[in-house]
Amino acid sequence: MNEKDFNGYSETDAIRTQAERTDFREHSVPLYLTSSFVFDDAEQARALFADEVAGNIYTRFSNPNNTEFIQKLCLLENTEDGIATASGMAAMYISMASLLKSGDHVLASRSVFGSTHQIFNVIFPRVGITHTYVDLDSPETWEANILPNTKMIFVETPSNPALDIIDLEWLGKLANKYKLILNVDNCFATPYLQNPARWGAHLVTHSATKWMDGQGRAIGGAVLGTKELIKEVRFFARHTGPSMSPFNAWILSKSLETLAVRMERHCQNALQLATYLETHNEVVKVKYPFLPSHPQHELAKKQMRYGGGMVTFEINGGIDRGRAFLNALKMISHSANLGDTRSIATHPASTTHSKLTDAERSAVGITPGLIRVSVGLEEIKDIIADVDQAIGNSLLFS
Ligand SMILES: *Cc1c(COP(=O)(O)O)cnc(C)c1O
Repeated sequence: MNEKDFNGYSETDAIRTQAERTDFREHSVPLYLTSSFVFDDAEQARALFADEVAGNIYTRFSNPNNTEFIQKLCLLENTEDGIATASGMAAMYISMASLLKSGDHVLASRSVFGSTHQIFNVIFPRVGITHTYVDLDSPETWEANILPNTKMIFVETPSNPALDIIDLEWLGKLANKYKLILNVDNCFATPYLQNPARWGAHLVTHSATKWMDGQGRAIGGAVLGTKELIKEVRFFARHTGPSMSPFNAWILSKSLETLAVRMERHCQNALQLATYLETHNEVVKVKYPFLPSHPQHELAKKQMRYGGGMVTFEINGGIDRGRAFLNALKMISHSANLGDTRSIATHPASTTHSKLTDAERSAVGITPGLIRVSVGLEEIKDIIADVDQAIGNSLLFS
């Protein structure tokens, strides 16, 4: 399963983009755990602070590990510039707070990550930034919801956990028609599977905590985009301090070296699990972007290299059966994270999305028996065997 030219993603860039080698001639890039950097002389210090020369001053502003991580990501996402953040949420927050002001409006897809909802619903209203939610599966409603004060479109595609998709090319054109900033949270797809900038996104935001780290160790995020926009984001970050720690940048940059091979296997396993689940008579519905039964299958194939590592399915028997299924799992972890070598299952209705009303849940496709699986890198026969026995045993004990 290889189409190297799908989006210009280069595994060589992911592996060979490295901070400059020091006099120790190390092969692997060292960890620069230093809070500040020394100046050569008074003139260099002045020039650094005046932005006349590039260089490190203080790790809140920049650090060789963070710079390496971001240079790599910019190559992989086809963006001009970027900044690494302490978490995915720091990335989401500063990508909006640095560019929006009181009185501005955001058009956002309804099924955004839980904490992104809290930013829209609770935090931004305090400073007079408003939003309207629109549905990924009804793009015809989007244009009508653009207001004179709309400044940004914010979307996740594929969405969590419903795995709905929106046409990024169409969205890029809509954003340009109204001179709006298109901001895409590309966490679920990763730069290997989808490049929003290629379709016109001005900002690409990430939680690096998930597939990018891929091994459940580090929290991190990134905001990538045009030079012009990142200049504002960088100013905001430098003075408010959500920067990534060099330690996490060092881990995450190493993780990117293997992103492509890991994602290929995650996607291969996910497609096999989804295909198996479609044949199971206790499973009412399976959603996976690369299954022909997905309502936006053709679109998924157009803008994504493969279908991603997430599979959702609706188990027969509603909320109690969903919970019994999780209790019956033997190998697959029951955890709120995703994007790990280990397969992880969650029951959104009683956990991540329990604070939503029934109506809000159903509006984003979360039915009572919905199970979300982040498909890991274990042997696919072992993943399927565990899901299979848990479906059987949840019937006995539900
Ligand atoms: C996890 C996640 C976030 C938040 O990232 P953190 O690193 O946990 O702060 C944002 N968006 C999506 C789609 C996510 O899955």
